[in-house]
Amino acid sequence: MNREIQIGRFRIVALEDGCFALDGGAMFGVVPRPLWEKLTPVNDDHTVPLSTTPFLVDDGKNKIVIEPGIGQRWSEKERVRYHIDHSEGRTLVESLREAGVQPEEVTHCLMTHCHWDHIGAVCGNDGLPVFREAEHWAPQVEIDCALNPDHLRRASYRADDIAPLLAEDLLQGFQGEFSPLEGIRMIPVGGHSDGVCLVLIEDGGATACFWADIVPTANHVALPFIMAYDMNAARSWEVRSQWIPRAAEEEWACLLYHDPVSPMGKFVSSERSFSFLPLDPSDCG
Ligand SMILES: [Zn+2]
Repeated sequence: MNREIQIGRFRIVALEDGCFALDGGAMFGVVPRPLWEKLTPVNDDHTVPLSTTPFLVDDGKNKIVIEPGIGQRWSEKERVRYHIDHSEGRTLVESLREAGVQPEEVTHCLMTHCHWDHIGAVCGNDGLPVFREAEHWAPQVEIDCALNPDHLRRASYRADDIAPLLAEDLLQGFQGEFSPLEGIRMIPVGGHSDGVCLVLIEDGGATACFWADIVPTANHVALPFIMAYDMNAARSWEVRSQWIPRAAEEEWACLLYHDPVSPMGKFVSSERSFSFLPLDPSDCG
């Protein structure tokens, strides 16, 4: 399995932060179970296994973490309900060290949205920020949701993920397209959540795209495969119709957060649909 690729001056590494599971019906939305159960293992409680895969982007000077991970600040009840498990594989900090980067060397931590399965690892077991020297960036609307969720959003956010960053002045919000440094763009698209972003990494004519929950796994590349978790499914359809064909056409390296098997690959268009092709070793730098 490929976990590293070079895009121009950027080395991109798929890190690890455990795995979990969510209800299969919710993960596949309107797609009927007879279709999706052929694509993935299914647990006894009807959940499907998912990874939480943060990515390191390293240009030799800046060390950027995209989407820190689910973290370990969970009660026993929550661990059981969501199958949260760090026993096999590595935590965010362990996998970062294995990639040659110490937590204090991280210069930027980019969060596409503030759902707990995406940013829980931004604070350690002591509840304090892990990347003490890093600028942390998230869409402002996502920060607001995490601090003050309404009843529709409450299940997806935890203020405890965000408050320690704000208390230490490590977190900044942005509105509209935002570039934390040259070659990296966060593009808020919405649909899945109010502010969810795509992250584009561009250099030397090559592009990588981190898809957050817009395309969570390799089984969500076909356009109708929209999660039931999405706040605005019509908007998700628009976003996916705009960006997935473009990624296929321009042969972007696609970085998937929740795919337990293949975190990196390409989208390919077949006659009437789109699918996923894991990255070939020869594509890797
Ligand atoms: Zn997610």
